[in-house]
Amino acid sequence: MIDINKIRADFPILKEKVNGKQLVYLDNAATSQKPQVVIDSIVNYYTTINSNIHRGVHTLSQKATDAYEQARIKLQQHFNAKKSYEIILTAGTTHSINIVATGFSSILKKDDEIIVSAMEHHSNIVPWQMLCERTGAILKVIPMNLEGELVLSEYDKLLSKKTKLVFVNHVSNALGTINPIEEIIDKAHKVGAAVLIDGAQSAPHIKPDLQKLDVEFYVVSAHKLCGPTGVGFLYGKEEWLNKLPPYQGGGEMIEKVTFEKTTYAGLPHKFEAGTPNISGVIAFGTAIDYMNEIGFDNIASYENELLEYATKKLLQIEGLKIYGTSKHKTAVISFNIGEIHPYDIGSIIDKLGIAVRTGHHCAQPIMDFYKIPGTVRASFSFYNTFEEIDLLYDALVKAKTMLC
Ligand code: PMP
Repeated sequence: MIDINKIRADFPILKEKVNGKQLVYLDNAATSQKPQVVIDSIVNYYTTINSNIHRGVHTLSQKATDAYEQARIKLQQHFNAKKSYEIILTAGTTHSINIVATGFSSILKKDDEIIVSAMEHHSNIVPWQMLCERTGAILKVIPMNLEGELVLSEYDKLLSKKTKLVFVNHVSNALGTINPIEEIIDKAHKVGAAVLIDGAQSAPHIKPDLQKLDVEFYVVSAHKLCGPTGVGFLYGKEEWLNKLPPYQGGGEMIEKVTFEKTTYAGLPHKFEAGTPNISGVIAFGTAIDYMNEIGFDNIASYENELLEYATKKLLQIEGLKIYGTSKHKTAVISFNIGEIHPYDIGSIIDKLGIAVRTGHHCAQPIMDFYKIPGTVRASFSFYNTFEEIDLLYDALVKAKTMLC
C-alpha cells in the first residue's frame, strides 16, 4: 500500500509553488523528483567523506571507495546481475548505449544486420546509425501499429543469421507501451544475436531480473529512479564486456602504462576511465533503497490506478486523442486536443502550475508515424495524486477554451 501523505512529505520540491500556483509535477518520464534521503546522501558525501576513490590509502578515500562500491553492489542485487563487475557505472543511458555501439565497431562486419524498434528514444537510434556508418552494417526496424505496439510478426521476418544485435526499449518514453522483451530476447537468441534493453523508462516501475531475462546488455539512468542526473549504468554479461574494447582511455582503466604499450584493467574499471560522479553513484544506491522500501509492486499498482483514472478523466475532454493505447502501459498519457499545438497547451497549463512535457520527446520517428508534430505528455509517479489529475483535467479544459 502507498501512504501518499508520507511519501509526498519525503519530496521537498512538491511543496514548491510555480507561477504562484502549487506545483503539479507530471513530467516524471523526463526526470523524477528526488526524496530528501537522496539529497541528504549527496550533501553527506561532500560534508563528510569527499575524496577521490580507488587510489588513496588514506581513510577518507577508503570510506568514499567503500560507499561507491557498496552502491555498485546494491545495483547488482536490485537488478540481479550475476557479478558486481558486470555493472559498469556510467553517466547514464546515453553514455551506456554509446559504450556498446562504439565497442561493436570492432565486432560488426559489412552487411551484418542490427535491429532496432520503431519506438525508440533518439539515444537508442543515433549511436547505432553512427555504428552502421563506420562498419557498413545495416539497420533494420521493427514496425509498430496504431495502438503503439511492436508488430512482432514483422520482427520474425527481420531476424536471420545475419542479425548480430537487437536493441529495444522495455518501455517507450513517448507512449508508455511496455514491450514484450522476454519474447524479443528469446527470438534474437534463436538466431544467435545479442540483445540490448534500454531500461530507462521501465526501471522506475518494473524491477527486472537480468539473469532470468538472460539479456546481454541492459542500460539505465539514475535520474528516472529518484536518483541524481548524470549517473547510470551499463550491465553487460561478463563474456560480452570482455569482448568489447574500452570506450575511453585515461586514469583508472589501465593495468600498466608505458610509452610502448598500455594494458587495460579488468572489469569494471576497463570502462570507467577518469574520476566518476562519486556522490551521484552513492546517491543512486540510496535512491534504489528508498524505492525498495516503498516496494516496486506497490509503486506499479498505485501508478496503474493513476493511469486508469487519468485515462478515463482526460477522455471526457472532447477532441482529446491519446497516442499509445496498448493494454500494456506504464503511467504515461501522450495526447493532443484537436488541432491545438501541444506547445500552446503546455505553456498555458504551466501558468497554472502544471508541468507536462510537449514536443517529440526525442522520438521523432513515432511522431512521423502518427503524422503529428508532437504530443502533450503527462507522466505519473508514485508521489502523484488523483487530485492532481483533476487539476490537470481542469487546466486542460481551460486551455482548450482559450485556444479554440
Ligand atoms: N532511452 C529512453 C527510453 C529514455 O526515456 C531516455 C531519457 N528520456 C533515454 C534513453 C536517455 O536517457 P539519458 O538522457 O538519461 O541518457
